[in-house]
Amino acid sequence: DFKYLFSPKQIGSTWVKNRIVSTGHMTNFVKDGLPTEELIFYHRERAKGGVGLITLEANAVHPTAFFTSHTIKAFQDGIIPHYEKLAETVHPHGTKMFVQLFHPGREVYPSGGSLAVSCSAVPTDRFRLIPKELEREEIIDIIKGYAETAERVQKGGLDGVEIVASHGYLISQFWSPRTNLRKDEYGGSFENRLRFLQEIIYRIREKVGSSFTVGLRASVDDFEKKGATFEEVLDNLKYLDQQVGGLDFFNLTGGSSATLMSSSFIAAPSPYPPGHFVAYAAKVKEAVSITVMANGRINDPVMAEKVLASGAVDMVGMTRALIVDPHMPNKAMQEELDRIRYCIGCNQACIGHFQQDLPISCIQNPITGREREYAAMRKTNHVKKIVIVGGGPAGMKAAVVAAERGHKVTLLEKTDELGGQVKLARSIPTREEFGELVSNLRRELTQFRVDIRMNTTADKELILSMNPDEVILATGATPYFPDIEGIELPHVLTAWDVLNRKKAVGQNVVVADWKGDMPGVGTALYLAESGRDVELFTSCYGVGYSLQQYVRDAMLARLHGKHVKMVPHYQLHKIEPSSVTFENIYTGQLVTKADIDHVILATGHIQNTDLYDQLKNHFPNLHRIGDCLSARTAEDAILEGFTLAANL
Ligand code: SF4
Repeated sequence: DFKYLFSPKQIGSTWVKNRIVSTGHMTNFVKDGLPTEELIFYHRERAKGGVGLITLEANAVHPTAFFTSHTIKAFQDGIIPHYEKLAETVHPHGTKMFVQLFHPGREVYPSGGSLAVSCSAVPTDRFRLIPKELEREEIIDIIKGYAETAERVQKGGLDGVEIVASHGYLISQFWSPRTNLRKDEYGGSFENRLRFLQEIIYRIREKVGSSFTVGLRASVDDFEKKGATFEEVLDNLKYLDQQVGGLDFFNLTGGSSATLMSSSFIAAPSPYPPGHFVAYAAKVKEAVSITVMANGRINDPVMAEKVLASGAVDMVGMTRALIVDPHMPNKAMQEELDRIRYCIGCNQACIGHFQQDLPISCIQNPITGREREYAAMRKTNHVKKIVIVGGGPAGMKAAVVAAERGHKVTLLEKTDELGGQVKLARSIPTREEFGELVSNLRRELTQFRVDIRMNTTADKELILSMNPDEVILATGATPYFPDIEGIELPHVLTAWDVLNRKKAVGQNVVVADWKGDMPGVGTALYLAESGRDVELFTSCYGVGYSLQQYVRDAMLARLHGKHVKMVPHYQLHKIEPSSVTFENIYTGQLVTKADIDHVILATGHIQNTDLYDQLKNHFPNLHRIGDCLSARTAEDAILEGFTLAANL
C-alpha cells in the first residue's frame, strides 16, 4: 500500500492531502502575460487526478523578470482574478496551489525574455549574455516586487508561494561568490550575498503575515564549475532555516541554467537515474527543521513511497509523472498500478516544447496540453470494425484510442514484436527507457481488449476479407538511400542494420548524418561505446541539432568522452570501396576519409506505401498515419494515431 504517499502533510499553514507535488514548470499557456483557459484545463485535469499540491509556473515578480515571452506578469494586480480562477479550479478537488515567485536575472531566453540583469556583469555561457549590473535602487524595487506579488497570490485565494532560488536564477546569482562580485551591502561576505534573499523573505512576511505559506526552491548543487556546490547550498539553507527564518519549506532540485551541461539537470532526461537528487535532499532534511521536498525523475509511485518511507524527504515532486499521466495519484491510490503510464524521460514534448515555444504536451499522452479539447474522451455512438496495420507507436496509439472509445479494433503486426522503430531507439545508449513507451502502449492495448495479431503480413486480400469499416495504415518507413556514387557498396550499412545488431561492423567507421537526430547521434554513440573508432559527419547545422537540448547535451558529453570526432556542415558526396567523401554544404569543399571499414547511413527514412498502393482504389475508408505518411518523430506518429482515432 501507499501509506506514506497518501498521508496528509502540513506545510506552514497549508494542509496537503498527500505527498505528491506537481512542481513549477513552464506550459506556454500564457498570453499577454496572463494565464489562458488552456492553463486552467491543464491544472484542473491534474487536480482531478489526485495530486496533493500544484506549484504554478514562473510568475514574474518585476518587469525585468521575463524569462520568455510566455511568462506570467504577476507584478500587476490584473493577475489576481486569474489566481482566483485557479483556486476555484483546483480547490474543489482537494488540491492546493502555490505560486512560483520568479526572477531569472541573467538567465533569459533571447527570444522574448527581458533584458538580462544580475547582481554583477558576469556572463551566462548558455545564453551567451553578459547582464547589466543591477543598481541599488533596482534591487530594492525588485525586492518590493517579490513582496507585492506574494500579497497578490494571497489575495487571489491561493495557498502559498515558492521563492525561486534554484537553477542559477537571480537569487542564486546573488548568493554565489562567483557570480556576485558586488562591493556594496549585497555582495562580499556570506551574509551580504544572502541579504537580497533575506530582505525578500522579510518583505514578503510583512505583506502576507506569519500564517501564509512561504517556501524556497533551491538547487542542491549547480553542477557547474562556476556555480554553487552542495556544501555552499547546505550552508545557505541552514542559515535561512536557523538565522533568517520565515520559510516553511525547501523544494530541492539541481543544476543551473548557466551552462549547457548544468542546465540538463533542470529536467534531467534519461539516463539520469530516477530520484537523483534524493540523497542530497536527505542530507538537507537532516540539517533543517522545515518541510523538505525533493524532485528529479521520481516517476513512479512505488519509488516515491520508498523515498518517503525511508524518511529522506517529506514530499516528492513528480512533475513529469503527472504530465504523462495526470491520474497517476488516483490510480496508485486505487492500487491500479498497471493502468499508470510511466514517463520515459525523453523530454521531447514537455520541456522540449517549452524550448520550441510550443504549448506543453507529452509524447505518450497527446491529451496533455489539449485537455480543453479532449479531457473527456467521448465513447463512440457508432461502433465500427477497425483494422490497423503496423504495431509501431502510431498504430498502437490509434488502436488504444479507438478501442477505448468502444470500437472493435484489430491490430496486425508483421513481426513477432510490437514497437516499430522504438525497438531500435531503445538499443541506443541513454535511450534504454524509450522501450517503456511500448510497454505502456502494450498494457493499454490489453486493457482495452484490442485483438492483436502478430506475425501477420497484411495484403489487400487479407484486409478486404476482414470486412472492416475503417482501415488505418501505420506501416512505417524504411531507410532512405541518397542518390550518390557508391551507395550500393557492401560496406555501406544503415543505422537500422547497426542498431538491429543484424550486420557485423568493423573498427573504423564513419556515420553520415542528415538531420541531427537520434539515428545518427545514437548510432555513433552506440558504436563508440562498443569500442569502435567513430567519426560523425552531419549535413545539419550542428550535431544533434534536432534533439531536445538536455538530451542532446547529455549525448554529446558521452560522445566527447569517447573522443568521437564530430564534423557539422558536411553532406555525403561519394563512397568508394574503403573511403567516403563529404562535401561542405557552404563551400563545396571536399573531405575524404580513407581506410574505413564501414559507412553508416543515418540519412532519413522513406515512407512504406506498398499496402496503401494496393488498397487505395479498392477501399474508401483508408487512412495513413505516422511514418508511412511521412517519416517524422515518434511524437508526431503518436499524435497522428491519437487524433485520427479520437475522431473516428
Ligand atoms: Fe515524460 Fe517524455 Fe512525456 Fe516529457 S514528453 S512527460 S519526458 S514521457
